[in-house]
This record gives sequence, structure tokens and C-alpha cells, in this order.
Amino acid sequence: MRLVTVGVSGSMPGPASPASCYLVQAEDGERRWNVVLDLGSGSLGALQRHVDPAELDAVALSHLHPDHCADLSGLYVYLRYHPGHGSQTTGAPRRLPVVGPVDTRERAAAMYGLEPAEHMDAEYRFCTWTPTEPVTVGPMTLEAFAVNHPIEAYGIRVTGPSTQRPGERATLVYSGDTDTCASLVEASRGADLLLCEAAFQEGRDDGIEGIHLTGRRAGRVAADAAAARLLLTHLQPWTDPEVVLGEARAEYAGPAEVATAGGTYLL
Ligand SMILES: [Zn+2]
Ligand SMILES: [Zn+2]
Repeated sequence: MRLVTVGVSGSMPGPASPASCYLVQAEDGERRWNVVLDLGSGSLGALQRHVDPAELDAVALSHLHPDHCADLSGLYVYLRYHPGHGSQTTGAPRRLPVVGPVDTRERAAAMYGLEPAEHMDAEYRFCTWTPTEPVTVGPMTLEAFAVNHPIEAYGIRVTGPSTQRPGERATLVYSGDTDTCASLVEASRGADLLLCEAAFQEGRDDGIEGIHLTGRRAGRVAADAAAARLLLTHLQPWTDPEVVLGEARAEYAGPAEVATAGGTYLL
């Protein structure tokens, strides 16, 4: 598997990155499969540097805050009206799978001003996460687990063919937006890569509970789960990455870094 951190900025786009979007790619011997985890504000632009949006196989949404799903509107236009392969031209419904919380279909349609929501069904095939039911995309398996955020929100565990250990499976765990919770630690056990949000900073955001992790709390998750590698993300534009990384390193002895827009990681 290959991870491209398309958008890493927390809560909003920043000067150096769009909001949350992570492209995960894996090959099954026949072709490359492309999944995006979240499609936050501004990310559809940067995504096009890495993949033609027409070649996406699924969009998996952690939750419905705009910094994780806003660019569903732009992708809808792309899939419908692209003069080469838009469904308006081909006449074939695209029905790109979009997996997310219960209201995803209604929210996606409302964002674009479509009424009723059925009008998006030719481009998107909306499905709702059921934590006990994995979603299969080519050689990849996606499993959602509920996390600790003010609205319905999930972390996503992706397993797929390892590029580092041929013949074996690799595991990527994406925290979505969350504060500390047991489900994140459980899902992250033994992960090859924990892509973990760290929006908050110790001493600055103290006393705000149930929304985000700090660097220190993210580091604790990685340590408790014995994750092989920690990649911090979702830092807000006003945050110094070195401060949050220092917090994480105080808790977690394994390799840790802060994700940057356009970074590529092999699993
Ligand atoms: Zn967010
Ligand atoms: Zn959020």
C-alpha cells in the first residue's frame, strides 16, 4: 500500500496544505486501486496531482465536518460534467462508492443545493458505516470504528498488500478527528502506520475535552498501541509542528513525524 497525504491542515485549509485528504493506493496484480480517506476543503485540487478523480474507487469519510467532506461538491461536478468521461457525456452512471456517517447523502446533496438527494445517486453510491461490517475495495479492506468527537465520527483501519513485506498485509490506521478513546488504541494495535490527528497543543488547549488530541495524547495512543510508526496530522495553521512533534516524542519512542502536503509513504 501507498499513502499520499494530499491534505493535512486541521479544521481548515492552511497556506501550505488543503484540509484533510489521504489517498491510499494498492495493487492487486491487475491494476492499481485508489481510495481517498476524507475529501476536505481545497483537497480536490491537490488530489489531481496524484490521481485522476475519475479513477477513484471509493471515498471513505471519517465524519461530516467541512474540513473532511466539503469537496464532495467539486467531485460531483467532475464526475458528472467532465467532457471526456463525465456521466453526462458517457450516459453511464458513475456511482462512485462514498462511505460515511448516516447523513452523508443528504449533506452531500444539500452542500451542492440539490433537492431531493436522489439527484446525486447517479454519481455517488452512498453507504453508511457499520463498524462490524468491513468495506472491501479491490485488495484493500476498510473498517470503521467510532471515535470521540462532537458529532458522529469514525477512525478508519485500512489493510492491504504490503509493499515492504511481499506476500503479507500491511495496516494503516487513520484516527479521523478524535480525543483520546479506547477504540483508537484498540484499532491501532500493531499498525504499520498510525496516521493520527494532533490538532491541539499542551498548555494552549487544556480543558477542551472530547474534540481533538494533543501531540502528547497522540504519542500516548501510538505507545499504548505499539504502532510501528506515527504520522501526526490535522495540525491547525497557527500551530508550530515542532512543538506538537516534541510532545509526541516525549510519549512515543518509535519513529514519529508530522505529515506534509504531498508526502508519500510506503506501507
Ligand atoms: Zn477536522
Ligand atoms: Zn471534526
